[in-house]
Amino acid sequence: MTIIPELHPRYKSLMTRDKLVDCIGAGITSQQGLIAHGRGEAFDYLIGEQTLKSARRATEVAAAMLLTANKPVLSVNGNVAALVAKDMIELSELLNAPLEVNIFYRTEERARKIKALLEKQGAKNVLGNTLDAKILGIEHARAMVDREGIYSADVVLAPLEDGDRCEALINMGKKVITIDLNPLSRTSKTATVSIVDDIARAMKNLVSMVKEKKNSKIDLAAFLAGYDNNALLKAVIEEIVVRLKDEDLRV
Ligand code: ATP
Repeated sequence: MTIIPELHPRYKSLMTRDKLVDCIGAGITSQQGLIAHGRGEAFDYLIGEQTLKSARRATEVAAAMLLTANKPVLSVNGNVAALVAKDMIELSELLNAPLEVNIFYRTEERARKIKALLEKQGAKNVLGNTLDAKILGIEHARAMVDREGIYSADVVLAPLEDGDRCEALINMGKKVITIDLNPLSRTSKTATVSIVDDIARAMKNLVSMVKEKKNSKIDLAAFLAGYDNNALLKAVIEEIVVRLKDEDLRV
């Protein structure tokens, strides 16, 4: 762990990088996960490292979708485990939904380590060690999921997912909620609800919105009615364009 002075202007971002590097050392995160994070960071600059109005609306829809799901499942990969394990566990408890370890560059050892990390932090229902069902339309290794988890879910929260798998899950009739800073990724374009925000900010918002809506008499269906993911992604891009036009280029 590097010592980063708290006054450093990029303190938060540097700490996040450190967390990911530590998790590579611990066998939780893949090296490719670092590159994926870098791509995300570039988009975070474009959105001003803040939650956009359109992302807040998408998060609200996601909260309503998870609360009205019959069988929600929360997918956890190496970056998700490194960055937001606690929030994922809290969400899993609020929704009474299992977490499923679901990694792109899968090794059994890494899957076991992610499960152990989640359980050490208090997760009670972690799937993903028994891969006994196949997502249709994906080649063998990446297609395997848990029959009791993602395979039979109606709504899957799959943050930082890859475009192929997102599309395959949609083709199986599932609703997929993703969190991805890139509004142009295939995942963002394919998902039912795309939250274009940093995973740490998005998960905090999602947990607090689920808490708030769970105990209210609010009409959840109203949040889902008329939701158009494509229009939301266009709104994200418009917000980015406006921001860039107004950007003060002096430091
Ligand atoms: P796709 O297959 O969907 O076109 P991709 O090839 O970029 O996208 P990956 O390489 O799996 O997919 O990258 C994961 C995605 O996660 C990237 O689009 C990146 O923007 C996003 N991402 C990475 N780190 C974060 C983060 N901290 N918060 C939100 N999104 C992130």
